[in-house]
Amino acid sequence: VAIVRFSRVADLRARLDRVRGSGAGVGLVPTMGALHDGHGSLIEAASARNQEVVTTVFVNPLQFGPNEDFTAYPRGLDADLALAEAAGATVLFAPGLDEMYPGGPAAVRTTVHVAGVTAPLEGAHRPGHFDGVATVVAKLFAIAGPCTAYFGEKDFQQLAVVRRMAADLSLPVQVVGCPTVREANGLAMSSRNRYLTDDERNRAAVIFRALVTGRDLVEGGESSPDAVSSAMRSVLASEAVVSSIDYVAVVDPATFDAPVSIAGEVRLLIAARVGRARLIDNVGARSPSP
Ligand code: AMP
Repeated sequence: VAIVRFSRVADLRARLDRVRGSGAGVGLVPTMGALHDGHGSLIEAASARNQEVVTTVFVNPLQFGPNEDFTAYPRGLDADLALAEAAGATVLFAPGLDEMYPGGPAAVRTTVHVAGVTAPLEGAHRPGHFDGVATVVAKLFAIAGPCTAYFGEKDFQQLAVVRRMAADLSLPVQVVGCPTVREANGLAMSSRNRYLTDDERNRAAVIFRALVTGRDLVEGGESSPDAVSSAMRSVLASEAVVSSIDYVAVVDPATFDAPVSIAGEVRLLIAARVGRARLIDNVGARSPSP
């Protein structure tokens, strides 16, 4: 069966109401397009457990800051359609800006703010970003209706924000997190990797090497967050292609609070600039039981 493409909210709703009525489960994979194998893995996870799999492609202006890359963000719907279909999607929903925000993004008067988990890291470096994410995901959940939605651990803080929003607002959506898909050299796949030259792409693997260094320390029993962060920063500093570091962090994976000392499960996160791209990545780590 060929993938079906919709650009209107009403058409997608009618289709999903009908398939749910006939007993099919709906899987939802929200994306901003420029699809790669990381997105593909979410679509595959969704299609393993749902008869209907909707991939959404919408570059959401609300989640970009004024000096960020909304205009430059890569777009290519034909390639997206092919990748989504090959991974098992049955529907591609690609609404225009007017369909999602009638009157334009500046006319939006209702937004969703998740407190707490949005404060540090990405939230601190990208003011308003998570309100934009929470608002568009709330809209996509309202449009899709009861479903299971798949999000990548690549955007670990975003996953926490979406889980929290769905729970706090009693949305009829089960949120599932999926592991990060990486290039052979360890670099996390990202649409923004398209901003990198081949040389930068090779060297950007230093971000994953820094995370692995941190994970090895935690798993070896290092309990000082500062010691772990310093070691990760040293690895980053060894590669001149990293032009600036937004943060290197060790946090509690549920609250995003910074632990005084590491005991149990933590998340290690990095945001850094390489060439024209701002890259983020993270890994989990667990200290050895005493
Ligand atoms: P984006 O199109 O970048 O907004 O991402 C759409 C979804 O794909 C989000 O849930 C991301 O976390 C997820 N995603 C992006 N890159 C990867 C990756 N390398 N591995 C797994 N999931 C990813």
